[in-house]
Amino acid sequence: MRFAFPACADYRRRFKGDHVPKVTLAFCGSGKTLCCSFFYNAVVKTWDVIVIGGGIIGLSLSIELRKRGASVLVVERGEPGREASYAAGGMLANCGDETPRRLQGLATASAAMYPEFVHQLQDESGVNVDLRDQGTLLFPGPGHSIDSIKDAQPLSGPLGQVEPALAAGGRPAVFLKERSVCPRALVNAALKAAKHRGVDVSSGTAVISVDVSRGCVVGVTTDKTSYSSPTVVNCAGAWAGQIAPCLIPTRPVKGQMICFAMPSRELLQHVIRTPEIYLIPRSDGRMLAGATVEEAGFDKRTVPETVQQLNRSAVNLVPALREAKVLEAWAGLRPGTPDNLPILGATEMPGYFMATGHFRDGILLAPVTARVMAQVMAKEMPEHDLSEFSLERFARQGSRVAGD
Ligand SMILES: Cc1cc2nc3c(=O)[nH]c(=O)nc-3n(C[C@H](O)[C@H](O)[C@H](O)COP(=O)(O)OP(=O)(O)OC[C@H]3O[C@@H](n4cnc5c(N)ncnc54)[C@H](O)[C@@H]3O)c2cc1C
Repeated sequence: MRFAFPACADYRRRFKGDHVPKVTLAFCGSGKTLCCSFFYNAVVKTWDVIVIGGGIIGLSLSIELRKRGASVLVVERGEPGREASYAAGGMLANCGDETPRRLQGLATASAAMYPEFVHQLQDESGVNVDLRDQGTLLFPGPGHSIDSIKDAQPLSGPLGQVEPALAAGGRPAVFLKERSVCPRALVNAALKAAKHRGVDVSSGTAVISVDVSRGCVVGVTTDKTSYSSPTVVNCAGAWAGQIAPCLIPTRPVKGQMICFAMPSRELLQHVIRTPEIYLIPRSDGRMLAGATVEEAGFDKRTVPETVQQLNRSAVNLVPALREAKVLEAWAGLRPGTPDNLPILGATEMPGYFMATGHFRDGILLAPVTARVMAQVMAKEMPEHDLSEFSLERFARQGSRVAGD
């Protein structure tokens, strides 16, 4: 394992900023010893890993790599955690029948990791991320048999007692033992925890290209500067495909949501999923309703008619929301791929890795993604088979990928 450089962490702490003495870092022998040679006239700072993108995927992975002793720089185009991860509803939906079959193993593993993941983030950041485990009530669509729903359980009583505020019109429902989290608090906690652990973050600078020399990664070039590292991982979400030289087939999938102030904090206890809409209550009395799934390019504007439709669907399901204040409406861009499965693992270019394309499940999949990617990057056998999620699968299918 190559990441273990306490001596250099000290050096980096001393010389934060641009005007640092040049230091050349080299691995010696086993890779455990670090040689540093100083030159009086030069300035280059090197990290073990550069993470492109400070969403929940990039931040979670940066923490995991830091835990393993790597020095890490997160390069973020805007403010960390302000894109899809900020827009998400926060359902940790590993049950039911919406998770693609090929993703089920990762989804189940990640859901199981969540309590410990959250515990650590909260502990290190002081931010409460509102992890709730009241569960989900799922109302299947017409033609969907309740018996075929994965992990479905009967309700604990009549619906009118379990969720009195619901007007479900006699439709059958099942209980799913799922959790939810507040994604905005989660990314805030992850950013604080990452900084607390010594991850460097460069905000407001967009990576334009991954730099390659003699066939190996040597860093990244941004719109303002360049950073050097032998290992780069692309966690740029819906924008991952815009970074040269690899053309990776990610695309934005727009989702619009609204947020109500519930008339009473206890109005709804469970997450509610119907074919028309889902509702996600928060412990502070907010309730999210969403979300659309639209192919609209990189357009993040909300559409008044869509917002009204979301409002109507929510009120139909919970009539007490009729008088509720709508606090906010927003749109975000999910990172989609041609098969809507993530892209996880190494690329053909030595030192360049991908962790993107989490589509509708990036909040759920953050802990397991961080773990398996850190394993792959350390050249360990990942604890989950990632062959289904390789970038090469698109090359096999004739999609545009590196070198095409
Ligand atoms: C409306 C909506 C509801 C959702 N609900 C859920 C849910 O309930 N549960 C769930 O699990 N998932 C949900 N998702 C999906 C989830 O939000 C995403 O899968 C997840 O946030 C992806 O995380 P990410 O870090 O890959 O992407 P992002 O959060 O988008 O982060 C990528 C980051 O990369 C940065 N970046 C882009 N280009 C560059 C560049 N060139 N240089 C530097 N930085 C760059 C961006 O600024 C951004 O901060 C939802 C998404 C939406 C939009």
